[in-house]
Amino acid sequence: MIPVAEARARILADVACAAPEETVPVARGLGRVLAKDVAAPFDVPSVDNSAVDGYAVRAADLAPGGRARVRVVADLPAGAVYAGGIAPRETLRIMTGAPMPRGADTVVPQELSQSAGEWVELAAVEPGANVRPRGEDVRAGAVVLRAGSVLRPQDLGLVASLGFAEVRVHRRPRVALLSTGDEVVEPGQPRRPGQIFDANRFSLGGMVAAAGADALDLGIVPDVRELLRERLLQAAGAADVVLTSGGVSVGDYDLVKGVLGEIGTIDFWQVAMQPGRPLAVGRIRGTQFFGLPGNPVASVLCFHLFVRPVLWKLAGRTRLDPECVTATATEAMRKKAGRREFKRGVLRFTDRGYEVSTTGPQGSGILSSMVAANCLIILEEGRGDVMAGELVLVEPL
Ligand code: AMP
Ligand code: MG
Repeated sequence: MIPVAEARARILADVACAAPEETVPVARGLGRVLAKDVAAPFDVPSVDNSAVDGYAVRAADLAPGGRARVRVVADLPAGAVYAGGIAPRETLRIMTGAPMPRGADTVVPQELSQSAGEWVELAAVEPGANVRPRGEDVRAGAVVLRAGSVLRPQDLGLVASLGFAEVRVHRRPRVALLSTGDEVVEPGQPRRPGQIFDANRFSLGGMVAAAGADALDLGIVPDVRELLRERLLQAAGAADVVLTSGGVSVGDYDLVKGVLGEIGTIDFWQVAMQPGRPLAVGRIRGTQFFGLPGNPVASVLCFHLFVRPVLWKLAGRTRLDPECVTATATEAMRKKAGRREFKRGVLRFTDRGYEVSTTGPQGSGILSSMVAANCLIILEEGRGDVMAGELVLVEPL
């Protein structure tokens, strides 16, 4: 038996490098992983500019506590630049974002003004008020986004504001996905007694997409050695990672091991975890292979623990560890020492802090426990039974 952390480390160590780079339009960059740092080519904002609609003046012209009377020399529309300067007792009517005219250092907001023809009366404001200095947001040359980070909506806005129309990102990893088992039937098709509808290809397909990879659906393979062999070879030729579910136990129809032995290399690992059956890890002609358990909860959990970080690493991400919190257990939980257990849980934020309970029955075939869950309760190897009121580690999902 190997611990979860060791299994994960060994799997990740085998992923040599990220997928190649490509260029995409900024508008298509959401969720993609940057392949290069993004540095600002200029100061943002690139000139001192007004933070409000109002009047640009010299602070020295504002009578402290009183009202100053200054002459309006021009009215600057948005997008325009005032070529002249502001002399003593003069002002420029200015819009939010417009460049400050030469000579002016302060803007009096519209609301604090009273216009009288060519003249305007202005209330006093702090010297330098309402001016956004050049470079206050970003300095020229500063790295604003690091390679390896995942682009969020606000990142796209920042990249665009620097004038870039495209971003350099990693190609999405490609994942070939297939279900194994004579009893597994495509949803929407007729089902005979003893058969079940395929769940895993859909939950795993969703997890592949959520991890930022592209899923290639290769359907269901019956427990027939020749067919499995053919489909796995096709999968390996088309993808960076091949995922199967089912067929990795020790039953008579569990063919994955035998077939992988012929066309690739495979290790069967007893990972000290619950749920989770033996996990098959190997390669088919250089392509990474994962044989996930057939039980729906176990396959989702194994994907989460072992496959997702591989897809993230292939996608170029640098942060592979999930964020966890601690919460107070509101119920007792059975726990066997010596293995890591993952309970499906419901995490709530209360006036006493985070609290967590399980979703109920925890069998590895009970997919509805995963649906009801908003977190995993992680009970570490060394731990025994948990009593209500104890602190536990929780990974929000
Ligand atoms: P196996 O490891 O192939 O014996 O599968 C273990 C359990 O998971 C059995 O009850 C299978 O019927 C079930 N199972 C296997 N594949 C799937 C699937 N794609 N969707 C739902 N259940 C499955
Ligand atoms: Mg099977």
